[in-house]
Amino acid sequence: MSVARAPVVAYVGIGGNLGDARATVERAIEALAQVPSTHRVACSSLYRSAPVDAGGPDFINAVAALETTLTAPALLAALQNIEQAEGRERPYRNAPRTLDLDLLLYGDGRIDSTALVVPHPRMQERAFVLRPLAEIAPARVSDAAVAAVAGQAIERL
Ligand code: AMP
Repeated sequence: MSVARAPVVAYVGIGGNLGDARATVERAIEALAQVPSTHRVACSSLYRSAPVDAGGPDFINAVAALETTLTAPALLAALQNIEQAEGRERPYRNAPRTLDLDLLLYGDGRIDSTALVVPHPRMQERAFVLRPLAEIAPARVSDAAVAAVAGQAIERL
Protein backbone atom coordinates (compact mmCIF):
# COMPACT_ATOMS: atom_id res chain seq x y z
CA MET A 1 0.00 0.00 0.00
CA SER A 2 1.38 3.41 -0.83
CA VAL A 3 0.69 6.34 1.43
CA ALA A 4 0.05 9.73 -0.15
CA ARG A 5 2.68 12.29 0.76
CA ALA A 6 2.02 15.91 1.52
CA PRO A 7 3.29 18.13 -1.29
CA VAL A 8 6.55 19.97 -0.72
CA VAL A 9 7.73 23.14 -2.46
CA ALA A 10 11.19 22.57 -3.92
CA TYR A 11 13.41 25.14 -5.63
CA VAL A 12 15.56 24.19 -8.61
CA GLY A 13 18.48 26.22 -9.92
CA ILE A 14 18.81 26.16 -13.71
CA GLY A 15 21.94 27.15 -15.62
CA GLY A 16 23.49 26.69 -19.03
CA ASN A 17 26.39 28.24 -20.90
CA LEU A 18 26.92 26.25 -24.09
CA GLY A 19 25.28 26.68 -27.46
CA ASP A 20 22.00 28.59 -27.33
CA ALA A 21 21.91 28.67 -23.54
CA ARG A 22 18.78 30.80 -23.42
CA ALA A 23 16.84 28.26 -25.51
CA THR A 24 18.22 25.41 -23.38
CA VAL A 25 17.11 27.08 -20.15
CA GLU A 26 13.66 27.83 -21.58
CA ARG A 27 13.30 24.15 -22.61
CA ALA A 28 14.40 23.07 -19.14
CA ILE A 29 11.76 25.29 -17.54
CA GLU A 30 9.13 23.58 -19.72
CA ALA A 31 10.55 20.14 -18.92
CA LEU A 32 10.30 20.86 -15.19
CA ALA A 33 6.57 21.45 -15.65
CA GLN A 34 6.29 17.88 -17.07
CA VAL A 35 7.94 16.05 -14.15
CA PRO A 36 5.50 13.44 -12.78
CA SER A 37 3.66 14.17 -9.50
CA THR A 38 4.91 17.75 -9.78
CA HIS A 39 3.52 21.18 -10.65
CA ARG A 40 5.67 24.15 -11.54
CA VAL A 41 4.28 26.94 -9.36
CA ALA A 42 6.66 29.80 -10.18
CA CYS A 43 9.68 30.66 -12.26
CA SER A 44 12.03 33.62 -11.98
CA SER A 45 13.13 35.89 -14.78
CA LEU A 46 16.14 34.77 -16.78
CA TYR A 47 19.52 36.15 -15.68
CA ARG A 48 22.89 36.37 -17.39
CA SER A 49 25.92 35.77 -15.15
CA ALA A 50 29.68 35.51 -15.53
CA PRO A 51 31.07 31.99 -14.93
CA VAL A 52 31.99 31.19 -11.28
CA ASP A 53 34.36 28.22 -10.89
CA ALA A 54 33.65 27.26 -14.50
CA GLY A 55 34.91 28.04 -17.95
CA GLY A 56 33.28 29.23 -21.13
CA PRO A 57 30.86 31.98 -22.00
CA ASP A 58 28.36 33.69 -19.71
CA PHE A 59 25.64 31.56 -18.14
CA ILE A 60 21.91 31.95 -18.46
CA ASN A 61 20.26 31.18 -15.11
CA ALA A 62 16.82 30.95 -13.53
CA VAL A 63 15.17 29.36 -10.49
CA ALA A 64 11.88 27.43 -10.61
CA ALA A 65 9.57 26.53 -7.73
CA LEU A 66 8.01 23.07 -7.97
CA GLU A 67 5.26 21.67 -5.80
CA THR A 68 5.91 17.94 -5.72
CA THR A 69 4.99 14.74 -3.95
CA LEU A 70 8.22 13.10 -5.18
CA THR A 71 10.89 12.35 -2.61
CA ALA A 72 14.02 14.48 -2.88
CA PRO A 73 16.07 11.63 -4.44
CA ALA A 74 13.31 10.96 -6.97
CA LEU A 75 13.17 14.65 -7.83
CA LEU A 76 16.97 14.72 -8.25
CA ALA A 77 16.72 11.72 -10.59
CA ALA A 78 14.11 13.59 -12.66
CA LEU A 79 16.43 16.62 -12.84
CA GLN A 80 19.29 14.40 -14.01
CA ASN A 81 17.08 12.89 -16.71
CA ILE A 82 16.35 16.39 -18.02
CA GLU A 83 20.08 17.23 -17.96
CA GLN A 84 20.87 14.08 -19.91
CA ALA A 85 18.15 14.81 -22.45
CA GLU A 86 20.01 18.07 -23.12
CA GLY A 87 23.15 16.09 -23.92
CA ARG A 88 25.18 17.23 -20.99
CA GLU A 89 28.78 16.05 -21.17
CA ARG A 90 31.14 16.34 -18.22
CA PRO A 91 34.69 15.67 -19.44
CA TYR A 92 36.15 17.21 -16.24
CA ARG A 93 34.93 18.82 -13.02
CA ASN A 94 33.30 22.23 -13.53
CA ALA A 95 33.59 21.91 -17.31
CA PRO A 96 31.20 24.09 -19.30
CA ARG A 97 27.82 22.38 -19.37
CA THR A 98 24.83 22.39 -21.66
CA LEU A 99 22.45 22.34 -18.72
CA ASP A 100 22.93 22.19 -14.95
CA LEU A 101 19.96 21.60 -12.65
CA ASP A 102 20.54 21.83 -8.89
CA LEU A 103 18.08 20.96 -6.15
CA LEU A 104 18.49 24.05 -3.99
CA LEU A 105 15.78 23.59 -1.36
CA TYR A 106 13.26 20.83 -0.64
CA GLY A 107 10.75 22.41 1.69
CA ASP A 108 12.55 22.83 4.99
CA GLY A 109 14.28 19.51 4.47
CA ARG A 110 17.91 18.95 5.36
CA ILE A 111 19.58 16.06 3.55
CA ASP A 112 23.21 15.02 3.74
CA SER A 113 23.79 11.83 1.78
CA THR A 114 26.50 10.86 -0.68
CA ALA A 115 24.30 11.64 -3.67
CA LEU A 116 22.34 14.61 -2.38
CA VAL A 117 22.98 17.56 -0.08
CA VAL A 118 20.10 19.97 0.59
CA PRO A 119 20.05 22.92 1.04
CA HIS A 120 22.53 23.00 -1.83
CA PRO A 121 25.89 23.58 -0.12
CA ARG A 122 27.10 26.35 -2.43
CA MET A 123 23.89 28.28 -2.97
CA GLN A 124 24.75 31.00 -0.44
CA GLU A 125 27.92 31.86 -2.40
CA ARG A 126 26.22 32.36 -5.75
CA ALA A 127 24.47 35.48 -6.94
CA PHE A 128 23.08 33.50 -9.89
CA VAL A 129 21.12 31.40 -7.37
CA LEU A 130 20.29 33.99 -4.73
CA ARG A 131 19.05 36.75 -7.06
CA PRO A 132 16.47 34.62 -8.96
CA LEU A 133 15.50 32.76 -5.78
CA ALA A 134 14.89 36.05 -3.97
CA GLU A 135 12.66 37.14 -6.85
CA ILE A 136 10.22 34.21 -6.39
CA ALA A 137 10.80 33.30 -2.71
CA PRO A 138 12.01 36.39 -0.84
CA ALA A 139 11.39 34.73 2.52
CA ARG A 140 13.99 32.05 1.66
CA VAL A 141 16.84 34.54 1.04
CA SER A 142 18.18 37.06 3.53
CA ASP A 143 19.16 40.58 2.49
CA ALA A 144 22.55 39.87 4.04
CA ALA A 145 23.06 36.86 1.76
CA VAL A 146 22.24 38.92 -1.33
CA ALA A 147 24.54 41.71 -0.12
CA ALA A 148 27.39 39.21 0.37
CA VAL A 149 27.37 38.31 -3.34
CA ALA A 150 26.79 41.85 -4.61
CA GLY A 151 30.22 41.89 -6.28
CA GLN A 152 29.35 39.09 -8.71
CA ALA A 153 28.48 40.11 -12.26
CA ILE A 154 24.84 39.31 -12.98
CA GLU A 155 22.15 40.95 -15.08
CA ARG A 156 18.41 40.34 -15.10
CA LEU A 157 17.24 39.84 -18.70
P1 AMP B 1 27.25 18.92 -10.69
O1 AMP B 1 27.82 18.14 -11.81
O2 AMP B 1 28.18 19.94 -10.12
O3 AMP B 1 25.89 19.47 -10.98
O4 AMP B 1 27.04 17.87 -9.53
C1 AMP B 1 26.22 16.79 -9.75
C2 AMP B 1 26.40 15.80 -8.61
O5 AMP B 1 26.14 16.48 -7.39
C3 AMP B 1 25.43 14.66 -8.73
O6 AMP B 1 26.18 13.48 -8.74
C4 AMP B 1 24.55 14.74 -7.50
O7 AMP B 1 24.38 13.48 -6.91
C5 AMP B 1 25.34 15.65 -6.56
N1 AMP B 1 24.48 16.51 -5.73
C6 AMP B 1 24.56 16.60 -4.39
N2 AMP B 1 23.66 17.47 -3.92
C7 AMP B 1 22.99 17.96 -5.00
C8 AMP B 1 21.94 18.90 -5.14
N3 AMP B 1 21.38 19.51 -4.07
N4 AMP B 1 21.49 19.17 -6.41
C9 AMP B 1 22.06 18.56 -7.47
N5 AMP B 1 23.06 17.67 -7.40
C10 AMP B 1 23.53 17.35 -6.16
